[in-house]
Amino acid sequence: MTTSLLVASPNAIVGFPAAMERLRDKGRALDVVEVAVCAVEDNPEDHTVGYGGLPNLIGEVELDALVMDGRTLAAGAVAALKSFRHPVSIARRVMEELPHVMLAGEGAACFAREVGFQEEDLLTGEALRIWRERLEAEGHSPEVSRYYAQMKGWARRFATDPEQAEQEWGTGVTGTVNVLARDTHGDLAVAVSTSGWAWKYPGRVGDTPIVGAGGYADNRYGAAACTGRGEMAVRAATARSLVLYLKMGLPLRDAAREAVLDLYALDDPYASTLNIVAMDAHGNHVGFSNRPEQRYIFQTAEMGAPAERPRVYVGPDGKAEERPL
Ligand code: ASP
Repeated sequence: MTTSLLVASPNAIVGFPAAMERLRDKGRALDVVEVAVCAVEDNPEDHTVGYGGLPNLIGEVELDALVMDGRTLAAGAVAALKSFRHPVSIARRVMEELPHVMLAGEGAACFAREVGFQEEDLLTGEALRIWRERLEAEGHSPEVSRYYAQMKGWARRFATDPEQAEQEWGTGVTGTVNVLARDTHGDLAVAVSTSGWAWKYPGRVGDTPIVGAGGYADNRYGAAACTGRGEMAVRAATARSLVLYLKMGLPLRDAAREAVLDLYALDDPYASTLNIVAMDAHGNHVGFSNRPEQRYIFQTAEMGAPAERPRVYVGPDGKAEERPL
C-alpha cells in the first residue's frame, strides 16, 4: 500500500485533523497541504502566519506563500500581500489561472480581489500590542518609519543568540508554516505560508514564496520546505538543493545534511536558524536544522494522531546529531 502522510513544522498541528480527513478520503496532496495551511492562517494565536501575524516595521501585516505540485512541477506564489488571510489559496489560484508563478504587493491584492477573495484587517489587537511594546522598549515611537538601522541591530542580536532574543521578544518574531504531503496516488505537494520576520523592512520578501528556496516538490525524488532566516534559504536555494541531492542519488538524510552544510558556506553577518522538513518519493521523512533542539511533526494515514520528532542538528563541523526529545 502507498504510504500517505503529512510532514510539517510543529505549528501546522492545528491543520492536521482536516488535512488528514482529506488524505484518508483519497484527496490530492495539493488540496491536503492547502487545507492544513489555511487552518494555520486562520489561527490568531500563531503570530507568524496569516491572520494575527506580526507586522513589519511600519505596522502592516505582509504575507508570503507558496504552493507546488510535485506531479506537474507547477507552482504559484504571492509575496508582500496585505489584507487577505489566505495567501496560500491565492498562491494556488495564481498557479492555476495565470501564466505566471508569482505576484507581489498591490498586483497580488488586485488578483485576489478579482478572483473573489475578501479583504480584511489582519492585524489583531494582540499582534499590535506585541509590535508596539517592542518598539517602545527599544526607545522608538511607532510613528517613526525609518528603522532600518535598528532592524539590522535586531537581526544581528537574533543571529548571535536566538534563545535570548526569543526570551526578550517573545514568540512569533520568526516562524512559518511548512506542510508536505504524499497522497494515496503517490503524488507530492508542498505549501508554505508566513508573515515573515516581524519588524521586517516593508516589502521584504523571504524564502517562503520563492520556488526552490522556501519549498519544492517533485514526485520523482521528494519534497522539502524551510522555516527560519529566509535570506539563507534564498541564497542557498535550500529546498531545491535538497531535492536535487536526492536526484543525484543521495539517501534522504545525506541530502538534508548537504543542504544544511551549504548554509554554513554563506558569508552572512546575520546567519541564524534554518530548519528544513523533507520527504523522499517513498514517504520517508526527516527534519534537519542548523540549531539544536528543533522539532517537526508527521502523521501517516494509519496513525491516530500526529507525532513529534527531533530535527537532526548539523553543526558547523558537519556532524549530524539526533538527540531524543
Ligand atoms: N522563513 C521566513 C522568512 O524568512 C520566516 C521564518 O520562518 O522565521 O520570511
